[in-house]
Amino acid sequence: MKHLASTRSGDAYAALIDNLRDFIDTEVIPRENLETAQDGDETRRIARDLQALAQARGLGAPRGRREDGGLALSWTECCAYLEQAGRSFLGPLALRCAPPTQPDVFALESLASPAQRERYLLPLMRGERASCFAMTEPAPGVGSDPRMLATSARRTPDGWVIDGHKWFISGAMRADFAIVVARTESGSSWFLVDVDTPGFRIVRDIPTMEPFDMGGHAEILLQDLHVPADALIGEEGKGLAHSQLRLEGARLFHCMRYIGLASRAMGIAQEYACRRESQGVKLADHQMVQAMVADAHIQLYAARQMTLDVARRLDAGESIRHHSSMAKVFVAEAVYQVADSAVQMCGALGVSEDIPVSMILRMLRPFRIYDGASEVHRAAIARRALNHGLAA
Ligand SMILES: Cc1cc2nc3c(=O)[nH]c(=O)nc-3n(C[C@H](O)[C@H](O)[C@H](O)COP(=O)(O)OP(=O)(O)OC[C@H]3O[C@@H](n4cnc5c(N)ncnc54)[C@H](O)[C@@H]3O)c2cc1C
Repeated sequence: MKHLASTRSGDAYAALIDNLRDFIDTEVIPRENLETAQDGDETRRIARDLQALAQARGLGAPRGRREDGGLALSWTECCAYLEQAGRSFLGPLALRCAPPTQPDVFALESLASPAQRERYLLPLMRGERASCFAMTEPAPGVGSDPRMLATSARRTPDGWVIDGHKWFISGAMRADFAIVVARTESGSSWFLVDVDTPGFRIVRDIPTMEPFDMGGHAEILLQDLHVPADALIGEEGKGLAHSQLRLEGARLFHCMRYIGLASRAMGIAQEYACRRESQGVKLADHQMVQAMVADAHIQLYAARQMTLDVARRLDAGESIRHHSSMAKVFVAEAVYQVADSAVQMCGALGVSEDIPVSMILRMLRPFRIYDGASEVHRAAIARRALNHGLAA
């Protein structure tokens, strides 16, 4: 990881990564109790303890400001940091870089007005308030196609009235405020909404296959919800561009974290293959098992390089739209395949909950759907390539 250290003192960066690796191995992974993986309250309690421990070791939110205990890492430096944090289900929670906080901070940093910054962004960065991002709707509302946005925001003399139905809103069960995407006269727009505003109603927490989730995936009804004029974020009608901005950073963080999780799954599978025997030899001596190991290493190597390339482009202020789409599709599919091979190599134990491999597989599967389904990204990549004559 030496090449990553170039943007700050190499030794200090290497020491930071070593410190984090040790923290994840000695403090975080031992606190993963697979039996309480679906207990959000328990996960929240453990995450709070771990946040204090992380802080005491000088480990904090990778993109956070130094004055808030953050590390202000570049995107490039985040790659190794997030990979280490991501090796444990609890790592991103302990280091305050789990979604939706990080992408919401990223978007609000460039879009929030000075008043919104004081009231929402800074408390979010300090961990004093929690956010969620509410765009997706049940059919016939918005899913993969952003033009299908059905939630409306109607202008009134003193603000806006929002009506709509959202679902799969991550983190909403513990959020203090939501970024709500709604249709206004000039198109899609973003609004900051305190969850205790009358008309904001959480219907239920939708159970999903993801373990160690502490904020849920909520279904929400917005009915006759009045917000003031200054609830509008950024420019009216520019919601699509805002969402694009938010998703690009979010995708990259997911890629970094999930490379760590997939790598851990393969590490467990390799250990198993080195001690378990079949037909008189170790599993590790069977060539078809070796092929799974080799393919996993090739996939994760490529996934790391693509993620790093997108991070460098982001640090350089380049548009990452095309490259982040390609990286997202590749990494989402690669990490899932690696985890799937890890399950296969571990046999029945791999599908059990005695070891974390099956939960890793469950954690990685939805990434091929959220932040743009693989098919939707492929269609966009091909459209850009064909319309602009891009060389492959
Ligand atoms: C764990 C999880 C967390 C989430 N968190 C949030 C959140 O915090 N906030 C939020 O707003 N949303 C969230 N979502 C929702 C997510 O953004 C949507 O699932 C995603 O945008 C896809 O929309 P959809 O589920 O309605 O799928 P649909 O639009 O119904 O598509 C279903 C499938 O059809 C195919 N498909 C769709 N369009 C095309 C196309 N153009 N070409 C080819 N194939 C296509 C794809 O295979 C796709 O997976 C979350 C989802 C999950 C699973």
